[in-house]
Amino acid sequence: MPRSPDFYDVAIVGGGLAGLSAAVAVSANSEAWVVLVDKDIGRNNPTPLTFSDVVQEFGLEDSVVNRYRGFSLHSSPGSQSFHYYGDFPLVSLDYRWACYILLTRAQQSLRFTWQRSYATNLTRDGGEWIISLNGGQQIRAPLLIDASGRAHFAAHCLHLARPRLYSHCYGQIFSRCQIADGELAEDVCLLLGGSERFGNGGGWCYPLGAGRISFGFASVTASPRYPLELVRRRYRRALQEFTPYAHILARGKPGPVERGSIPLGPVRPFVHDGLMLVGDAAGQATPWACMGVEPALVNGRTCGRVAAQAFKRKDFRAEVLREYETIWAQTNRRAYRQGTILAPLQWTQSEEVWDRITVGHSRFTPEEALAHLRYNEPIYSLPVLGWSVVYGRLGRIRRRVRDWLRQHLRIGALRGEAQEA
Ligand SMILES: Cc1cc2nc3c(=O)[nH]c(=O)nc-3n(C[C@H](O)[C@H](O)[C@H](O)COP(=O)(O)OP(=O)(O)OC[C@H]3O[C@@H](n4cnc5c(N)ncnc54)[C@H](O)[C@@H]3O)c2cc1C
Repeated sequence: MPRSPDFYDVAIVGGGLAGLSAAVAVSANSEAWVVLVDKDIGRNNPTPLTFSDVVQEFGLEDSVVNRYRGFSLHSSPGSQSFHYYGDFPLVSLDYRWACYILLTRAQQSLRFTWQRSYATNLTRDGGEWIISLNGGQQIRAPLLIDASGRAHFAAHCLHLARPRLYSHCYGQIFSRCQIADGELAEDVCLLLGGSERFGNGGGWCYPLGAGRISFGFASVTASPRYPLELVRRRYRRALQEFTPYAHILARGKPGPVERGSIPLGPVRPFVHDGLMLVGDAAGQATPWACMGVEPALVNGRTCGRVAAQAFKRKDFRAEVLREYETIWAQTNRRAYRQGTILAPLQWTQSEEVWDRITVGHSRFTPEEALAHLRYNEPIYSLPVLGWSVVYGRLGRIRRRVRDWLRQHLRIGALRGEAQEA
């Protein structure tokens, strides 16, 4: 039994995929009393794209909305790369449903409680956290797993570091899209190149089956504040101008809005005494493709397993919890370091550079293209990207000089004509 109805061994704030994956792992690997605090489970992005094998590994097949045999990158100036696979390596998920599947699994343990509430404050009393909930209730636990996503609950209360960049997404799900033959295959998902006009973070266009399409764009900024007007304006421009999808979507019926921010750039350390950060709360989405579903599930599970071991040892010091970060670093350190260094460069590229990236992408084998999407490897290395930036800027200067010369030569010619007349 817990010491009291308000005392638990592990408290988890946030019921997205990261918090629920951690909850399932703690419950499956220990006898710990676990409480998960969230008012509403799985309300992040309704239909994210992720990898089939991850969905299989976590037993989430029932939440699959659509499966994709092909994957394509399309730049706004018009270059396109296509990659087809023998099987269906990518899927779109019903996020909320996936969360409910995990919740049901966690609830199989009688020691698990879902507290439908919102955590408002966090203080430390000796070796315990005191988490205040809205409504005035307090819960206590020696170990806190912060899976509160972009709300960064622990970082906010304890003044910890936060991710450097945020991808602010805005899109919609369209229904009744009549897709003519050859326009857009139902089993191909598209990523759209970044653009100053539509969103420097690039966009997405996923058919969801039965004439439904998810379409949107993202703007990456250094501020966690969601710039609604900016992203909505750019999204609307893309909706009118990004061919050929603009024509297809114009025939459909705009439906639910998909919007939110993805924190980019891991905030290490992920562990402190009695505290673990996971998922978006730790900035674990890939800084290159901004995919956070797989990191939330995988890191949530690792976090939960390490928390279960710490519970067994009754030792929640950072030294003990650090194993979670060590496991993360073994797989991710190199790719994330590279991706995080390149991120500020990557998100300020012109359409021309994105166009060249797309051409480079079309030379990949299908497996390479998938690996780049998944393992976060930038398409170009730092020197090549650096050269692209210089080349792009030189091109812009050249065009300005050319336009200036043309304009002044024309004015000169007009003056000459006027004098002659
Ligand atoms: C529009 C959009 C499109 C995306 N597209 C993709 C994609 O195609 N592929 C992909 O892999 N990833 C995508 N992502 C990113 C992915 O959805 C996230 O990285 C992932 O869902 C993170 O999971 P999480 O559990 O860490 O956070 P979340 O799912 O955000 O869960 C956090 C939970 O914490 C709760 N919470 C917050 N503060 C508190 C508090 N104080 N008290 C109690 N509860 C609290 C919230 O209610 C929420 O349920 C997208 C994100 C957005 C916004």
